[in-house]
Amino acid sequence: MGEQILKEELFEKVTSLAERRGFFWQSARTLYSDAPAGYWVYGPLGTLLKRKITDIWRKEIVFKEGALEIETPLTLPIKVFKASGHLEHFFDKLTECRKCHTRFRVDKLIEEQCGVKENLEGMSDEDLMRILIEKGVRCPRCRASNWTEIKHFNLMFTLQVGADAIEPNAALRPETTQGSVVEFRKTYMVSRGKLPFILAQVGRVFRNEISPRRALIRMREFQQLEIHIFFDPDNTSDYDRKLKPLLNYKLRFLRKEDRETGKISEITAREALESGYTVNSLITYWLVIYQKFFNEVIGIPAERLRYRELIEGEKAHYALVHWDLEVYTEDLGWVELVNNAYRTDHDLSGHQKVSGVDLSVDVGGRKLMPHLYEPSIGLDRVVYHVLALSYREDVKRVWLALPRHLAPIEVAVFPLLSKDELIFRAKQIRDLLKSEGFHVFYDEKGSIGRRYRRMDEVGTPACVTVDYQTLSDGTVTLRDRDTMNQVRLRLEELPRALRRFLSGASLEELVE
Ligand SMILES: [Zn+2]
Repeated sequence: MGEQILKEELFEKVTSLAERRGFFWQSARTLYSDAPAGYWVYGPLGTLLKRKITDIWRKEIVFKEGALEIETPLTLPIKVFKASGHLEHFFDKLTECRKCHTRFRVDKLIEEQCGVKENLEGMSDEDLMRILIEKGVRCPRCRASNWTEIKHFNLMFTLQVGADAIEPNAALRPETTQGSVVEFRKTYMVSRGKLPFILAQVGRVFRNEISPRRALIRMREFQQLEIHIFFDPDNTSDYDRKLKPLLNYKLRFLRKEDRETGKISEITAREALESGYTVNSLITYWLVIYQKFFNEVIGIPAERLRYRELIEGEKAHYALVHWDLEVYTEDLGWVELVNNAYRTDHDLSGHQKVSGVDLSVDVGGRKLMPHLYEPSIGLDRVVYHVLALSYREDVKRVWLALPRHLAPIEVAVFPLLSKDELIFRAKQIRDLLKSEGFHVFYDEKGSIGRRYRRMDEVGTPACVTVDYQTLSDGTVTLRDRDTMNQVRLRLEELPRALRRFLSGASLEELVE
């Protein structure tokens, strides 16, 4: 495989490739240089990659775990966020430079200038202010060190819906969860539900970040893949059974007491459950399922994954226990991919109180307020990390060693030379593969070497080349992106061979 690239350059290289080849780029900036930051466009390749990740999540998680997918509006009444606690608790702390009036997120300011990282989110305003003063933190823009009092800045975008509105009466959702909670009762009834009752939502959410940055990592509009499991906290026996075959699976935790050293504890699902650390079999099961999904399906090496236990102050306002499933890259460090929160009956009880509607369910004659556990994937961050962890380069080429089943373009078809008889045959083969359901790219321009490089750079696993031998004996070459080796296959075998190759078979296995 390729030489190791300089780790600190990875982010620059990936985002530059993404812009150059059409995975993603900043919204509206090609026309309006002052367009607000934190909004990103997915180009054709990025859209395909994102859809593949979403589809595979649907197949492996939503369908297999029996979740019902619903779609709820992006706009919700402000009352919803009063009930959920977002109006009161969903804020970042900011301070303003008294000289140039630029506003900054206090924790990020301290983190960047003092290298302090842990537990800033949990600190009181007074302690944060003290650090700003004691450490002489300077304004990144004008170098002054004269800060205003810390203000709480709510991260929701509020709206005035309707011509009569004189003040905000709605907000763009900051998570898909509230839609599921508000519609829980109705969905439970129409689907004749029983606990545990699992909903899924895919959709955009909005947060008015003070400093959006790092491309797809911190955005103002982003996408979540969320699972909402409503359950009886006194009866998770369904999951005792489901967890059984997975009890020896090793979960990777950064426990709160190991923050300083960064030591990751590998403990089996059995130990995690029996020690009480993961609360119950339902939560334990879902922690296993998501670590397995990111490792085995999305292809992130296990040593780059960990569950970071959040502590008071860092945990969301609704969470009793809370782990972030994080991924490691050398330049960005550990970044959260999945927020895993045990929200108890916080949301349903909040809505019952504000709406006055009874949201409890009947379980064998007993009235019960279901609890909620929620693993929530930040999809855009997954897209970025899939690209970053696939990035390879050596003296000859740059390529994306994407897991083959995630590659946006599955196969490219080329005539070896730009000759009519080869072009004619190559186009026939392109159409054949399209009719077989493959996502095919066709190219006849430039040298064959350059055409291979262009496909390598966007992670296309296979290239099929049509040459003069094709015309005489009906065979084509199939080239493997990673090894650059080729085999000759008969055309009749091509669709089946390609299907096997995309599911992981080696070239050698195809010609056995
Ligand atoms: Zn300033």
